[in-house]
Amino acid sequence: MKICRYNDNRLGLLDGERILDVTAALDALPAYKYPFPRTDQLISNLEMLKGRIAEVAKGASSIAVADAHLLPPVANPGKVVAAPVNYKAHLEESRNDVEINYNRKVIEIQTIGLFLKSTSSIVGATEGVRITFPERRNDHEIELVAVIGRTAKNVSVESALDYVAGYCIGLDMTIRGPEERSLRKSLDTFTVLGPWLVTADEIGDPAGLQMVLTVNGEPRQNANTRDLIINVPNLISWASSFYTLNPGDILMTGTPEGVERVVAGDTIDARIDKIGSMQVKVRAA
Ligand code: MN
Repeated sequence: MKICRYNDNRLGLLDGERILDVTAALDALPAYKYPFPRTDQLISNLEMLKGRIAEVAKGASSIAVADAHLLPPVANPGKVVAAPVNYKAHLEESRNDVEINYNRKVIEIQTIGLFLKSTSSIVGATEGVRITFPERRNDHEIELVAVIGRTAKNVSVESALDYVAGYCIGLDMTIRGPEERSLRKSLDTFTVLGPWLVTADEIGDPAGLQMVLTVNGEPRQNANTRDLIINVPNLISWASSFYTLNPGDILMTGTPEGVERVVAGDTIDARIDKIGSMQVKVRAA
């Protein structure tokens, strides 16, 4: 199942090049009262909702994907966990390019660990990226994103993928510079999630997915998730040894080599096997 959120918070089910309006399925969600759970309600109830979504899809109205304003597939993630320098070739390019490393030692992921991005940085594909500091280098980073489906704490590597609701494409937009990663990667619009959530059953093993990013048609990043230094099950297990991962939490798995600058006016095309593609416009703030 490919599930999206679009236009005025409608829920969509992908059907080829069209989106079926299955918003009515959300009526099956429990009525929550304050204080609301610190999880995403769609994701935490997704298993229950799948049957309802399929039911509502019969005879649903539809629009073309190209005509939809795509919102982030997860509306209320509790946190965005991200993996730094998780591909060997990106580690090497970071060490060799002073514009990326700012004369700091680039420390391996096994040593430096994970980091958090602000949830206020999240946008969907159609919303696009805004450049707040055009005088600085603003880079694209394509990443496979896993969306956590069940509460995970101290989970084993062997069971880790059972905790994934689905996957989407992520852009971990980044300002290069001297500040901590969390700050440089948490500007508004700097976490693009989309174009939709592909449920875990459609992906199977998240290793072996080719991902390609172009800017204005020019090739920039082209790599495969089999080359992750710490793969998806190990990232989930490791992250869950520090944080409790909740339904809707976002795990950005790291970017491969080929990171480069974007400027206002650019169009990023990002695609990952079995997920699809999204076109993301870069605008001035
Ligand atoms: Mn990244």
